[in-house]
Amino acid sequence: LTVPDHPVIPFIEGDGIGVDITPVMRRVVDAAVARAYGGNRRLVWMEIFAGEKSNLVYGENTWLPAETVEVIRDYGLAIKGPLTTPVGGGIRSINVALRQQLDLYVCLRPVRYYPGTPSPVRHPEKSDMVIFRENSEDIYTGIEWEEGSPEVKKLLDFLQSELGVTQIRFPDSSGIGIKPVSRDGTERLVRKAIQYAVDQDRGKVTLVHKGNIMKFTEGAFRDWGYALARREFGAVEKDGGPWLSFINPVTGREIIINDVIADAFLQQLLLQPEQCDVIATLNLNGDYISDAAAAQVGGIGIAPGANLSDTVALFEATHGTAPDIAGQDRANPSSLILSAEMMLRHMGWQEAAECVVSALAGAIAAGTVTCDLAGTMEGATELGCSAFGDAMIA
Ligand code: NAD
Repeated sequence: LTVPDHPVIPFIEGDGIGVDITPVMRRVVDAAVARAYGGNRRLVWMEIFAGEKSNLVYGENTWLPAETVEVIRDYGLAIKGPLTTPVGGGIRSINVALRQQLDLYVCLRPVRYYPGTPSPVRHPEKSDMVIFRENSEDIYTGIEWEEGSPEVKKLLDFLQSELGVTQIRFPDSSGIGIKPVSRDGTERLVRKAIQYAVDQDRGKVTLVHKGNIMKFTEGAFRDWGYALARREFGAVEKDGGPWLSFINPVTGREIIINDVIADAFLQQLLLQPEQCDVIATLNLNGDYISDAAAAQVGGIGIAPGANLSDTVALFEATHGTAPDIAGQDRANPSSLILSAEMMLRHMGWQEAAECVVSALAGAIAAGTVTCDLAGTMEGATELGCSAFGDAMIA
């Protein structure tokens, strides 16, 4: 990525707590960039609109203007606050629409522990993993039909008479869903995960699946993933297989490609988080795993994320609009700030990214946190959203 010294960064403020956290994120990131590069580099923020604010700017029922999508596509990069899911509008979810229109097929979620953060596990400091969740397939395609509908009747008839399916226990009262998982979709996701391991000098990529039950979707994900690692990265069997490994051409370190069944993986996540490194998984597994992993290191208030295609990176906090605390200057801005930190790394501005990380680590280590963490953190001082930003900058 070629980045000028004064790059334009399109941003969507977001609904609900978006109005609290987005200005704080910008302030902290600007301070980190100034600290890292003096006056030589600076971000030029450009507001673009989606969600409730877009209805004010562009007129009613314009939840996601085409112009907004075009800007993100053209600039190849943007950061956004959370967006309300419209009720009863023509659009199911703005986030889903953005992912589909920009073909953001990777949901990237790093999980890192900041010392002092309250955690439900005994050794949260052992968590340092990055989750690559497939974003475009699986049950999130939303292909399903309601119990008793004519479609279900037709499907049942086809399944029973044409395909000889006899396993549906209660056909008269079943809804039916379809779970498409493709070779192409799997390969582009696993390729990104392995390439990330190479670029970031990580030691292991784990394919997480339920292939023991769903052989031609989840099991195929595993098989296609292994095949891609062999074909494109030269991975070969390790200790008799099925695990593979290859040598990182940049660092000379071994990278292992293994696979774990999703339920066993969730147990491993809790008991041996140090075993989890780069994770590549399907959409639904990834949904469960990313939230469970985030909970171990402080929860959604501090969990960053990005949605990626081959040409676009959209950085966003993983939580919603938190209507219960919106507009009260109480929300934790860390998730959006750490999403911006991911953006800085994506731009190659590592020094500014490191500055953000040490500012957050410093604020938490000093016991100054926002309301979501203060209640369970001994001796903590609760700060508002903007005061927490000030603490980070200080
Ligand atoms: P939510 O994430 O907004 O809130 C869940 C709980 O977590 C609430 O108690 C909230 O106060 C708390 N919380 C969330 N973020 C926090 C932060 N930064 N600091 C402190 N506390 C925080 O989930 P929800 O209530 O189910 O959803 C509310 C709205 O957000 C819905 O319209 C939903 O569709 C939308 N949503 C948007 C996104 C997105 O834009 N990426 C993601 C999830 C939900």
